[in-house]
Amino acid sequence: MSASTEPHSHSDFPTGFRGTVLRPGDDQYDAARAVYQGRAADKGPALIAQCADEEDVATVLRYASAHDIPVAVRGGGHGSDGYAMPGGALVIDLSAMRAITVDPKTRVVRAQPGVKLGEMDAAAQQHGLAVPAGTVSSTGVAGLTLGGGIGFLMRRHGATVDNLLACDMITVDGRKVRADATENPELFWALRGGGGNFGVVTSFEYRAHPVGPDVVAGQLIFPFDQAADVLGKLSAHLATAPRELGLLVAIADAPPLPMLPEDVHGTPVLILVVVYTGDLATADEVVQPLAALGRPLADLVTKTTWVQANSMLDAVAPYGMRMNLRGGYLPALSGDAIDVLLEHVATVPAKPGDIYSINISFMGGAISEDADEDAMAFSRAGAAWLWEAICKWDAPEADARYDDWATTLTEAMQPHALTNGYANLTDDLGEEWRRGVHGSDAKHQRLRSVKAAWDPRNLLRFNKNITPGTAG
Ligand SMILES: Cc1cc2nc3c(=O)[nH]c(=O)nc-3n(C[C@H](O)[C@H](O)[C@H](O)COP(=O)(O)OP(=O)(O)OC[C@H]3O[C@@H](n4cnc5c(N)ncnc54)[C@H](O)[C@@H]3O)c2cc1C
Repeated sequence: MSASTEPHSHSDFPTGFRGTVLRPGDDQYDAARAVYQGRAADKGPALIAQCADEEDVATVLRYASAHDIPVAVRGGGHGSDGYAMPGGALVIDLSAMRAITVDPKTRVVRAQPGVKLGEMDAAAQQHGLAVPAGTVSSTGVAGLTLGGGIGFLMRRHGATVDNLLACDMITVDGRKVRADATENPELFWALRGGGGNFGVVTSFEYRAHPVGPDVVAGQLIFPFDQAADVLGKLSAHLATAPRELGLLVAIADAPPLPMLPEDVHGTPVLILVVVYTGDLATADEVVQPLAALGRPLADLVTKTTWVQANSMLDAVAPYGMRMNLRGGYLPALSGDAIDVLLEHVATVPAKPGDIYSINISFMGGAISEDADEDAMAFSRAGAAWLWEAICKWDAPEADARYDDWATTLTEAMQPHALTNGYANLTDDLGEEWRRGVHGSDAKHQRLRSVKAAWDPRNLLRFNKNITPGTAG
């Protein structure tokens, strides 16, 4: 959960700062400190510096460096740990830096760090393009990209970091640098998966791809008593699936949709969330056999737009609830792993109004087969599926119940999971987990060396922290 820092009055905060400075008691302070993780609201930061531009970012970092003050960074505010708004901290808030440019000729998209995925999708789709990224439109491009970035296009075009061409970054001592394949390549290696450990990124440059505008997408909803059978058949069925098929499996309580029998509402169901971005004429061949894996209660898969498809999960992602998130990579969707996930549905401590979802994302294709594991910090070696459990509730007294449940599930999944993982889709699980999450000790030590080169005093420590160190 959110870390704290020693209180600091910040009475000497630089007067040349052009954006908005917010302290406890200021009118906009509470709105500014609201992030996706509701638990972060328990204790507010000491000062939020809402940067107008990259010069503002440099001003705050020079100030923090001069006073040896650790600094937190807020992009889109979706980080499950709440590290973007730690109690008592100095926060660089990038949410006002929201410019996006799309060059339809070169298919290069540039986004500032306050941009959200829905905004990037909308801008790129004006030119029939999309940047492979995540599945909920309010997620920030910044944190998502720095951790890796997975979603419905990953099988076709790879992770977000596989499509990252360059970053502009402000160093902790306030210099502007560029990181790409030729300029500061070691930094660029680390920024692609190593999170916000090395500096504050003020611009991301991506390769976009032609997608849509029309796609075939939606949900196939199966009764829970068919879940084990459908999941058991899924891997064999998908062995020859085209890369244009994006698939996320969700086990969650059924929404009160009129097309579902009333007695199913609010009880667990299995949902195959399908997004097919290939030739529309072949969509039925790909999607209908998925429906035939069982007897769905509802088949909501239909022709729609990419923007609609890539925001259909927004409905189950409300902002500001208390939450936890656990997950990891699976080398296979084995019967034993399926059993563990399904058994834990019965013990979710959910009360009315709470939300839980156990998700399993289908990997393979470009994200797995076209990637060189050592080409960047982000790891995906051996990952065929990603499991993830997300719980949301409002009552603080439910924290321990949900955390215990998530820990029990994580421990039960451990024998079936890989030691590497996707850092963005789980809460920070501590030092040992951080050593393994990037895939090997060699990669971890390399990240520690890059950290030592760019942030030797670990001022950027409110994150899945990589401690500075020397290789060897
Ligand atoms: C509802 C929901 C759905 C999600 N869906 C997906 C998904 O489909 N695919 C996926 O890949 N991930 C997904 N995620 C995870 C998401 O990628 C991470 O939560 C990510 O950290 C969000 O980035 P942010 O900028 O919104 O968050 P923030 O909380 O603002 O940032 C997270 C961390 O990133 C660092 N950071 C942010 N901006 C910068 C910057 N400009 N420079 C340096 N460091 C920075 C900071 O350390 C910060 O604490 C989802 C998360 C949620 C809550």
